[in-house]
Amino acid sequence: MKTIGVIGAGQMGAGIAQVSAAAGYRVLLSDVDLARAEGGKAGIAKQLDRQVTKEKITADVRDTTLANIEPVGDVAAMGACDLVIEAATEREEIKRKIFDTVGKGMRSDAILASNTSSIPITRLAQASPDPARFMGVHFFNPVPVMGLIELIRGLATSDATVQAVEAFGRTLGKEIVHANDAPGFIVNRVLMPMLNEACFALGEGVATIRDIDTAITLGLNHPMGPFTLADFIGLDTCLEITRVLFEGTGDPKFRPAPLLVKYVEAGWYGRKTGRGFYDYTGPEPVPTR
Ligand code: NAD
Repeated sequence: MKTIGVIGAGQMGAGIAQVSAAAGYRVLLSDVDLARAEGGKAGIAKQLDRQVTKEKITADVRDTTLANIEPVGDVAAMGACDLVIEAATEREEIKRKIFDTVGKGMRSDAILASNTSSIPITRLAQASPDPARFMGVHFFNPVPVMGLIELIRGLATSDATVQAVEAFGRTLGKEIVHANDAPGFIVNRVLMPMLNEACFALGEGVATIRDIDTAITLGLNHPMGPFTLADFIGLDTCLEITRVLFEGTGDPKFRPAPLLVKYVEAGWYGRKTGRGFYDYTGPEPVPTR
């Protein structure tokens, strides 16, 4: 593989473009228009500048990485790609439209992959040009820092597709795990019930936000507690994924905790809105309960 297309220049798409370019691939980066794609590249440049300042990379590495990224205004340009990774907004109709447009221009041996966190891969594959050359490639946020990629094969994904995307992922220096096309794949299947259970425990008065966070951090040797983590991810995203697990399995053990629903209904989504389980408007995060 030489040329990678990335559709969606937001948080994840920019990260995927950055690590691919740093690994030496030519990257075509698109978004809804050229200005947004260029904005994505400008964000990557800022990230790389910071790394140069901290002496983590040289100015040369920054320049070669950036030179490998070409913002494009039209997904039709993706015809030059060996692999196209879709990392656009998590809405099925948006992704379906993208697959339809990009599919018309892609080479007949190129692979299309989606970074979706929650939409079934087999269902999305139906909107792709060839379900045998379609799969899920789930990166973690922030992409340059997190060392894992979950690969998800749909019912029709071919072995050759999985092998090619696995080989690509390894050249990015990431560890690869394989998951079947089940709600939440591996990480969210295990993580979200823990975050949701912390909300049940809080709602039932088992302990305070701070004590639950401290207990899980020190008692389980986790880098942070469930409420701090949920605030990072976004409580709206946590609720959305928990609902996908609940609806996708039909198992009541995944029902969303009423307190999580309440925080989301209040618009308290976590760090991105300045308040979630903690209030971030002051110098230090303060628990909201
Ligand atoms: P984001 O909102 O930061 O970025 C989404 C980008 O897609 C935006 O720049 C938007 O303009 C663009 N977009 C929307 N419609 C488009 C279209 N028709 N064509 C091209 N671009 C379009 O979102 P994100 O957090 O980067 O998430 C992107 C994908 O990655 C989602 O599928 C999400 O589920 C998945 N994901 C997110 C995370 C995370 O922690 N944020 C982790 C793993 C996977």
